Amino acid sequence: MTQIPDMHDAEPIPDAARAEIDRLLRSGDLFRYHAPSDSPVALLEGEFATHLGSKYALAVSSCSAALFLSLKALNLPRGARVLIPAFTFAAVPSAVVHADCHPVLCEVGRDYRIDMNDFVAKLDTVQAVLISHMRGHTSDMDAILALCGARQIPVIEDAAHSLGATWNGRNIGTLGRIGCFSFQSYKLINAGEGGILVTDDADLIARAIIMSGAYEHNWAKHPVLGAACAKWQNQLPLYNLRLSNLSAAIIRPQISHIAGRVADGRRNHDHVAKALNACPWIDVPDKLPQEQRAPDSLQFNLIGMSDAQVLAFAETAKSAGVRIQVFGLSRDNARAFWNWQFLSDLPDLPLTRAMLMRACDTRLPARLTSEDCSAVADVLLQAAHQVMGSAAA
Ligand SMILES: *Cc1c(COP(=O)(O)O)cnc(C)c1O
Repeated sequence: MTQIPDMHDAEPIPDAARAEIDRLLRSGDLFRYHAPSDSPVALLEGEFATHLGSKYALAVSSCSAALFLSLKALNLPRGARVLIPAFTFAAVPSAVVHADCHPVLCEVGRDYRIDMNDFVAKLDTVQAVLISHMRGHTSDMDAILALCGARQIPVIEDAAHSLGATWNGRNIGTLGRIGCFSFQSYKLINAGEGGILVTDDADLIARAIIMSGAYEHNWAKHPVLGAACAKWQNQLPLYNLRLSNLSAAIIRPQISHIAGRVADGRRNHDHVAKALNACPWIDVPDKLPQEQRAPDSLQFNLIGMSDAQVLAFAETAKSAGVRIQVFGLSRDNARAFWNWQFLSDLPDLPLTRAMLMRACDTRLPARLTSEDCSAVADVLLQAAHQVMGSAAA
């Protein structure tokens, strides 16, 4: 039997980062606003914006910080209602609360995407929409952008897990007013921590730059934004969510690896998905036709199993070397909305709850070989057969 690979190691940092890190350590030049121009963080912003085809980018300390700043940059009134999917990471409702806004949870279907009926039903009660493309599954952005556009409701994209994914050929994260990405270790680019927001709106980026901690005239070190930033000088609070030059030095050499990691991740995902979909107890939902995914993990639903059988499946897979997590059945899961008890009025969302109780999650790194993928699929198939084959008998 093939050895099951370690699927939890982070992506190693390209050797190309070493010389620049060494230079920064020798000079001590770690603060993005120390040099008069072209700091590693500023260069990263230019390169990332170019890569995505956005006008502006602002690198910050995390994707959560980017989401928070996006909401603040929109200048929403205190207490504004912000629609978010009920299937996302706890950082998303947290960013909304942190920005003095009120999260309104929208149902998510068994394909991990926003339920458009519930979206339409709630849309007229909110002032902004934050679409979290959870685990890189894109919701119906054609419908969402048309509905929000008609009401002039701004859309923020949480693209933390969607770097390299496209919708109708356009990069995810560039469809709404602002897009936010993560460089945390379990995302496509690994810097330990870090995030970035992109937009084409000069006034929004100017506000975000100031609030991220460009105190005094440090905003002048952001290219071509002079007038937009000068207007907000001293008018906004500083939250100091800046990125260090050291992080930028780790991120920059990974940008050229995005395309390769995306292609490998998609190949691995589709390989395992195809094998699993032959099993009567497992369903990997299809992508939407407009979508090209960039997966580094796999989600699938278990069918016709009781809670006990689902847990037995997870246990059997684990003992054969593949750790899977059932979002709704693992303890304190940060992606199960009922665990967001910092929200005062947690609604019941039966559609999302039903999905979370049967949806499994496993990492599937781009570096796996085709043999690795077959071995992972075999473990999952055998676990399903072991649990359900004996139940049927
Ligand atoms: C990881 C993640 C975040 C948070 O990113 P950080 O950089 O760790 O703050 C937000 N949303 C989604 C969908 C994520 O996967």
